Amino acid sequence: MENLPFYQEINNEAEIFEHAWRNKLPLLLKGPTGCGKSRFVEFMAEKLGQRLITISCHEETSATDLIGRYIIKGAETVWVDGPMTTAIKEGAILYLDELAEARPDVVVAIHSLTDHRRELFIDKLGETIKADPNFMLVASFNPGYQKGFKELKPSTRQRFIALSFHYPEAKTETHILEKESGIDHSNAKKIVAIGNKIRNLTELGLAETVSTRLLVDASILIHSGLGKRQSMHVAVVEPLTDDEHTTTSLKDLCDLMI
Ligand code: ADP
Repeated sequence: MENLPFYQEINNEAEIFEHAWRNKLPLLLKGPTGCGKSRFVEFMAEKLGQRLITISCHEETSATDLIGRYIIKGAETVWVDGPMTTAIKEGAILYLDELAEARPDVVVAIHSLTDHRRELFIDKLGETIKADPNFMLVASFNPGYQKGFKELKPSTRQRFIALSFHYPEAKTETHILEKESGIDHSNAKKIVAIGNKIRNLTELGLAETVSTRLLVDASILIHSGLGKRQSMHVAVVEPLTDDEHTTTSLKDLCDLMI
């Protein structure tokens, strides 16, 4: 427990996670990038004393990557378990971050794990393995309504119980910045105010808006001694957009408010 990472609970999610874990229910965390989903899973794994295996899914992530493959070792071929197989055997919490990004065969592979069977068929070995009682599947999904985000099929979503994550309200987010960076309260408050101002500028049409992660990064830079304006420019504005006009307006806004 002493390694428990800092996690500011927002809406009773720890109790929900604990019940899901106890009852072997797969859990889907929905929410935009950088709003605390991964931190929450790290926190819960530590709290429950479980090993956590995290896979950041991307468009090349295939079922083989997760399940395992034969590799050539000298004159022999040997089977090597992938991270999903390891998690199932060892009873770890398997966190598939951004599940919708993975190849469709990953989604197919998790089907038998997410229902009463709790098993995985490894076709290359012709074997079915039963999940350890402590195994739990957690996935995250970014329901970004803008272009460029992949959807999760309803038939997949309905295999999970689901929790929605949002950027925290100002008071809570200010507290997170203080705890994460050591920055003082008044600066943290200003940074959060800028974050919320930009989040409300929906007319900018940003693909993704300011995450808590970006605000934490800005706070870390400021706390480290970099100028406040420059910290906001490089940690908040530049990662958000490449459009020159938008960049200039956002930098002006930060300069005014910080
Ligand atoms: P996600 O997995 O949703 O993309 P992360 O969990 O990586 O986001 O969060 C990004 C950062 O934001 C974390 O490293 C942490 O500094 C901060 N953060 C966001 N929400 C919280 C929270 N509720 N408690 C503590 N830190 C948080």
